[in-house]
Amino acid sequence: DLASRWATSRVRTIPDFPKKGIQFRDITTLLADAKGFRKAVDELVQPYVGVSIDKVAGIEARGFILGGAIAHQLACGFIPIRKPGKLPYRTIGESYQLEYGEDRLEMHEDAVRSGDLVLLTDDLIATGGTAKAAIKLIRQAGGTVVAACFAIDLPDLGGAQKIRDMGVEVMTLCA
Ligand code: 5GP
Repeated sequence: DLASRWATSRVRTIPDFPKKGIQFRDITTLLADAKGFRKAVDELVQPYVGVSIDKVAGIEARGFILGGAIAHQLACGFIPIRKPGKLPYRTIGESYQLEYGEDRLEMHEDAVRSGDLVLLTDDLIATGGTAKAAIKLIRQAGGTVVAACFAIDLPDLGGAQKIRDMGVEVMTLCA
């Protein structure tokens, strides 16, 4: 639809970044465009206006940019889910497999309270490994992930379906 085309036309693809063979979807051009950024955020929050949500969780680093704006729009708190060693207080962590090697996400142990309703966000979902680890962290803390939203979906990699299979609704703006 219109909003999706709007966003798609403002994302650029960079060949061979960060390494050869990867087509990197660069959202900085969407973020830098006043109307594009606003429309993207408006569209992402639209299904959740009036829905009971306590906190928006954003995944480092581009998920912070969207997540901050989404939390403001929905009048929710914001919590950062970060790469290892970045958060100052006591953390819980979740490791996950990459194609080569392993990665890990951390969250403050008191960021999510038992019973909290959380909306997860990131700029892009590919294999879903990152979002899956974030959902596990939120659930470990006793929170419920109401939904996960992403500006971009790479559907061929199956991540969105993986997240739906975890019982989490997925909203994406464009593919
Ligand atoms: P996944 O774990 O779903 O395979 O990868 C998603 C994570 O990697 C997200 O945190 C996302 O920011 C990052 N990522 C992977 N590929 C791209 C890309 O092409 N563009 C952007 N902007 N982020 C990407």
